[in-house]
Amino acid sequence: MAAAAVGSLTNMSSHADVTPEVVKSDEEWRSHLGDERYDVLRRGGTEPPWSGRYVHNHDDGTYRCGACGNVLFRSETKFESGSGWPSFTEPAVADAVVLLEDRSHGIARTEVRCRRCGGHLGHVFDDGPAPTGLRYCMNSLSLDFEPFALG
Ligand code: FE
Repeated sequence: MAAAAVGSLTNMSSHADVTPEVVKSDEEWRSHLGDERYDVLRRGGTEPPWSGRYVHNHDDGTYRCGACGNVLFRSETKFESGSGWPSFTEPAVADAVVLLEDRSHGIARTEVRCRRCGGHLGHVFDDGPAPTGLRYCMNSLSLDFEPFALG
């Protein structure tokens, strides 16, 4: 199974292992994020494919967590996956994210969450390109892009 293969490459955590550094109540998150981002980041929702603002973003910079600002991905690892969601081969640093087994919708997948706040980011699959062979399939709504400063 893809989830098992991915899990063997990176530490797969159970929910009980993950203690976010940033903790807010549901109501605090909702007012902080707004309904659209709350649905994805705090309720595990998925934005429609091709709808996100970063699908075709090729600018150089850093992608931060849309909820807590944690640095999650770098533009050098972004690639065109054809999936309709921004896709990356690896996180900016290994422990920026946590991986969780997700058996919702009758499919075994590996969910990706921000380690700092526990926000839902997307899923990771083992059909990505070199060098990792992984495809971190992310929601644009979960990310904030920060371009590198010029000059
Ligand atoms: Fe976060």
